[in-house]
Amino acid sequence: MKVLVIGNGGREHALVWRIARGGHEVIAAPGNPGIEALARCIPVGVDDLDGLVRIAQAEQVDLVVVGPEAPLVAGLADKLRAAGLVTFGPGADGARLEGSKAFSKQFFAKHSIPTARFRVVSTVAEAEAAIDEIGDRVVVKADGLAAGKGVVVAADRAEAKAAARDMLETRRFGDAGATVIVEERIAGREVSVLALTDGKRLEVLPAVEDHKTIFDGDQGPNTGGMGTVSPAWTNADLVDRICKEILVPTVRGLTADGIDYRGVLYAGVMVDAAGAPYLLEYNCRFGDPETQPIMARMVGDFGKVLAGAARGELPAGQLAWDARVAVCVVVAAAGYPAKVRTGDPIEGLDQVSDDVVVFHAGTARKDGRLVTSGGRVLGVTALGVSVQQARERAYAVVDAVQLDGKQCRRDIGARR
Ligand code: AMP
Repeated sequence: MKVLVIGNGGREHALVWRIARGGHEVIAAPGNPGIEALARCIPVGVDDLDGLVRIAQAEQVDLVVVGPEAPLVAGLADKLRAAGLVTFGPGADGARLEGSKAFSKQFFAKHSIPTARFRVVSTVAEAEAAIDEIGDRVVVKADGLAAGKGVVVAADRAEAKAAARDMLETRRFGDAGATVIVEERIAGREVSVLALTDGKRLEVLPAVEDHKTIFDGDQGPNTGGMGTVSPAWTNADLVDRICKEILVPTVRGLTADGIDYRGVLYAGVMVDAAGAPYLLEYNCRFGDPETQPIMARMVGDFGKVLAGAARGELPAGQLAWDARVAVCVVVAAAGYPAKVRTGDPIEGLDQVSDDVVVFHAGTARKDGRLVTSGGRVLGVTALGVSVQQARERAYAVVDAVQLDGKQCRRDIGARR
């Protein structure tokens, strides 16, 4: 097959790497310097929907895989399908599961999917009443896409009310905060479970544990993700429960609501002290950096599975998993997650062993040199027979990277 992968991050590098290993020809738009080594890159941005459709047509690709959420929410998959292209990624209707938290919470409630108690509000007065009703342990969320920053896990009611005012009145997140969700805060441990679906069947991928804050020990502001471990701490019974109570009812609900969803259902799940899973949110695409350890462990022809899902015929039993554990440590640029400094040279990537893959995210080539171009720069992903071994291998490469202002967490996987 000839496969077009859309996006330019670590997630897309990992997808391209795995698909290419199945012997397929891969092209990418716009891609990045890491992807360039595996695929021809075409400089069309992820927000140029018509440009992307034109490339897919001109290149006569057999499959398009859409990486990021913004073009899916904007309807890229619909445009591609209308042009006759086999596309992995939901249409705008399905992508609302990520694009609107009010829509998704109402969907969970309608289809009896366990989730935190919530209210949807659009004025400060409504928000304050909802916060007083739910109590001291509340989370305030902007409805729309806010690059992972629109969620405030409040320490108390005053902080929750200030956050709601910030979204509704000050419009800190623009129109994304015109509607706000106030919900009960659930104490527990988080896990990410991604599944491929063709709208009817599910292929559940191994669970992943993320590390969201910038500093060790889960301190400091949230980021897009500073590192991941897969498989996660969850046992088979829990994953089974997440599948039965969350993923299966979701696919049924989508069908019942007339949404033909072909893509990834990425469930962000909180497991409470009693072991009960609650769905915090859905993403409508692969996670970044969740995809990196999943791809590192995957065995099988991934392109074929994605094409099957895109055609509505997800094949069963095509994927297997390396018995080892994968750990991905993100190397971030100076300033991240606040104001990021770009253009810093990156060196020391020439000596990487077989058990480690360095996925590029925020990198660019300038005058022949590799430099930073975004907050999260690299995802150093290692396999090991234990979490400890995978950690040691990943950190050996992370430590060899020379980058002014380099940031990384030292405790990825350390809790295990
Ligand atoms: P979301 O984008 O909805 O997944 O929220 C981002 C992060 O906020 C999650 O990964 C959790 O760490 C936290 N969070 C969101 N909702 C809740 C909740 N109801 N209870 C506890 N933590 C939450």
